[in-house]
Amino acid sequence: MAQTTPNHTQTVAGWAAHDSSGKLTPYIFKRRQNGVNDVTIKILYCGICHTDLHHVKNDWGITMYPIVPGHEITGIITKVGSNVKNFKVGDRAGVGCLAASCMKCEHCKDSQENYCEQVQFIYNGIFWDGSITYGGYSETLVADYRYVVHVPDSLPMDAAAPLLCAGITVFTPLKDNNLMGAQSQGKKIGIVGLGGLGHVAIKFCKAFGHHVTVISTSPLKEKEAKELLGADEFILSTKPEQMQAGKRTLDFILDTVSAKHSLGPFLELLKVNGTLQMVGAPDKPLELPAFPMIFGKRCVKSSMIGGMKETQEMMEVCGNLNVTCNIELVKPDQINEAMDRLARNDVRYRFVIDFSDGQQEFSKQALKDQ
Ligand SMILES: [Zn+2]
Ligand SMILES: [Zn+2]
Repeated sequence: MAQTTPNHTQTVAGWAAHDSSGKLTPYIFKRRQNGVNDVTIKILYCGICHTDLHHVKNDWGITMYPIVPGHEITGIITKVGSNVKNFKVGDRAGVGCLAASCMKCEHCKDSQENYCEQVQFIYNGIFWDGSITYGGYSETLVADYRYVVHVPDSLPMDAAAPLLCAGITVFTPLKDNNLMGAQSQGKKIGIVGLGGLGHVAIKFCKAFGHHVTVISTSPLKEKEAKELLGADEFILSTKPEQMQAGKRTLDFILDTVSAKHSLGPFLELLKVNGTLQMVGAPDKPLELPAFPMIFGKRCVKSSMIGGMKETQEMMEVCGNLNVTCNIELVKPDQINEAMDRLARNDVRYRFVIDFSDGQQEFSKQALKDQ
């Protein structure tokens, strides 16, 4: 049932899942009118993140149906509110996971809005006005300008879309651990898992001048990791002799794997004082043996996306260093097929939905199906 929040009077066509089958169908819903702090964005592209898949299928038990997923959004600004100074009509804009935060707590003041206790996400969240948020699998978005970033002219809008979640998720650990900038080059970095997150992580690490080792369970990924993405080395984690040879060789490991696994074998790959940062989100507890930690004074930590300031910074870095995602573009009517393939990890490396043309046809179809 469509929401009936006052002031939500803009009719928008999108795609929604209505139950845990996760099947997405055309859906007409309401968005708020563009407020004083809002920008309205004509969506051009939206990436398909693994989180979207979890939400449509209610894997985490938190889904409010109908759900319109999508938090890797790029588009063009078509309206700006009277308080908005840093965007104008026609600007290239990006929106990621965040829709709002309290703007008062220490994290908000520190531009770490992603860690605000009252953070509201761009879909399946509850906005300040009580409405349920609907994400980027749609033709139009109304967003508070404080949670919108500029997309540099040098970045293609389609391949830039996944930067808004996958990109920032792997960028902040590198920044936080002083792994970007001239003084920090030449570190030995391991990337565990080669999917949507892992492939951008390799590109950042190479752009920042590091030596990259990809650690994966799939021998098929070695060629691509090296030849397509520029990785220097590859360790097949199922081969004990390769893991043994890699012991104490890495300064930092970024673990992007979302399936349950033990961190012990990866910790052994770290030098003394090394850090493993987790950005994957397994829904079962991970195995974390103490010995590899204490015998190497090693640190395990984690993080989630990034704040708005660092998201804008990341977009600039990507624009300057030419870091984009490798994508497969799909039309809106191929969303379900793309979701099925994503569930099988059959994607190189991110699906992006193309809303840039045929929008009218799509809207008409959606209205007819309603
Ligand atoms: Zn995501
Ligand atoms: Zn806050």
